[in-house]
Amino acid sequence: MAKLKNLEDYREEIEHCVKCGACRAHCPVFVADKREGRVARGKIALANSVLQGEVDFEEKVLEDMSQCLLCGSCCAGCPNNVHTEEIVAATRRRIAEQQGLSTFGKGVAAVLGRPKLMNLLAKSGGKLSTILFKKLPEDSGLRLRFPAPYLEADRTLPPVTAKPFRERVPEIIPGEEGQPTVLFFTGCGINYMYPAVGEAFLKALKFLGVTVIIPKDQACCGLPAVSAGATKTVEKLAEQNLAAISRHKVDHIVTACASCNAGLGEIYAAMGDEFSDLSASTIDIFVFLANHGLPEKLAALPKADKPIKVTYHDPCHLRNRGITKEPRQILKALPQVEYVEMPDAATCCGLGGTYSVYHYETSKKIGARKAANIAESGAEMVATDCPGCIMQLQDNINHANGKQQPVHILELLAEALPEDI
Ligand code: SF4
Ligand code: SF4
Repeated sequence: MAKLKNLEDYREEIEHCVKCGACRAHCPVFVADKREGRVARGKIALANSVLQGEVDFEEKVLEDMSQCLLCGSCCAGCPNNVHTEEIVAATRRRIAEQQGLSTFGKGVAAVLGRPKLMNLLAKSGGKLSTILFKKLPEDSGLRLRFPAPYLEADRTLPPVTAKPFRERVPEIIPGEEGQPTVLFFTGCGINYMYPAVGEAFLKALKFLGVTVIIPKDQACCGLPAVSAGATKTVEKLAEQNLAAISRHKVDHIVTACASCNAGLGEIYAAMGDEFSDLSASTIDIFVFLANHGLPEKLAALPKADKPIKVTYHDPCHLRNRGITKEPRQILKALPQVEYVEMPDAATCCGLGGTYSVYHYETSKKIGARKAANIAESGAEMVATDCPGCIMQLQDNINHANGKQQPVHILELLAEALPEDI
């Protein structure tokens, strides 16, 4: 049985916080808001009080605990390696156990826990998109025509596809003999909002002759439910995915979404021994491509006369797992790309699961910093490795009246590969 860690499991780690405040400079929420309750040590002190039973779950406690992107930036700057993002997530679960989920959290749990309902909602949203949304200039996303709960009118959203990616492709796409077999864990972002990224994934693996299995019964990785504190939903989704994945014999489980990579590779790993193989086999697409000789193959392609300036945004969930080199390696090897590094590429874009839903104004402040850094790089495009980041980056850029286009690296890679592979 999948079992998430509870707050008690973090008692020792909580005690490792020496309240030095080194995390302040690393926390995007603190940098945006300058309030002590926003920073890691404040949240850890609060988590400790919850653990000791010293606080009631009054409004202030709930507010402070919701003020975290779960980005893990503070951990990178912490001398004692305290994982505040995990402690905050465990505290949210404790709060939800005692108080029940928030209204939005209940919605997240209800939808994610029922893949058929999710499919139905996505398809209806896709079909009704011209009624519900207005298109922004230069195809830079959609905005709601009418106000809706939890979605501000000035927020940019991507279109939802009327035909999810997994319904467009066969479950098994054979490759060449002697090449590996991988399972593509698509995640919801690619399945419902960015099917072109899924197509690009398949083109890249076809180029290498890799066999790809895309189980129809895979479900959401559960990360949005982690952010909402919905324990049972996360555990149920992990079990569902374990069952869907275990039916296939593959060399790797490949993700093209940072959150899915952290979900399967890290969060599931802590949920029970039965997840050990699944977690150990999980690999990010660019680590896989770099390990399988793609940069060398790309180097053989003719260079473009007028390359596009592209920068890279590090998704927090990959940066935390040490995956920063390979996405850049692939980008730099693309024949049509001139790579430029932006300042603070590893700073969060401001999405943070349910964070941007509850705290859109602060999320916009964090996003404004990201948009300014993208502009400073001089790039025409910002590439990344996470559908959620693409969505947020587009919103950030639109608020800053920027013209840069956010893309998944896979889309640029597919463009560079020969048409007839
Ligand atoms: S979380 Fe780490 S960096 Fe922040 S106050 Fe505690 S020990 Fe210091
Ligand atoms: S996880 Fe991110 S938002 Fe939360 S306290 Fe740490 S740095 Fe701040």
